[in-house]
Amino acid sequence: MKMICDFCKTEYTLAKIPNTPVKCAICGHVWVPRKRFIGNGTWLKFAVVLCALIAACIFSFVAVLKFQNTVSKKKPLVAHIDEKTVHLIKDEKGNNRIFVAGDITNNTEDIYGLPAIIIVSYDGANNVLSRQSFTPPATLLEPKTTVTFNHILSVDPTNVKRVSVELKESK
Ligand SMILES: [Zn+2]
Repeated sequence: MKMICDFCKTEYTLAKIPNTPVKCAICGHVWVPRKRFIGNGTWLKFAVVLCALIAACIFSFVAVLKFQNTVSKKKPLVAHIDEKTVHLIKDEKGNNRIFVAGDITNNTEDIYGLPAIIIVSYDGANNVLSRQSFTPPATLLEPKTTVTFNHILSVDPTNVKRVSVELKESK
């Protein structure tokens, strides 16, 4: 069996590793030899691989959580126009105007302050004709609830082919 001096690294080959302290013939260092287990390195490698695997699992889990968080943080409120409600009406001066209605849903577990609602109108070539913002019907939106809105656009609807809704980015 091999025994190595802890201090000067001199190697000794012995029939049996002694249980008593030994003295190095070269440097005089005294130490208690320990039996070296066969496969020690294998266990170490296994432990390292296992740790790496666990770390990788935790990392990907955290990454998924972070991703989900950013997604829900990015769009806590979702606005939607009910296409069936979009129609022309006449205002008090007899001008054609576009009436839109829709809703805003809070998908989170938190109360959110409602930002301004923006109705974007487009022509047939998808060019933006106007962006009209108006104040929301409520100040706060409770978790997991929906609030409806309706609005009459003051734009001339002649060239308007499509409308969409956006929420003003909260800073
Ligand atoms: Zn030595």
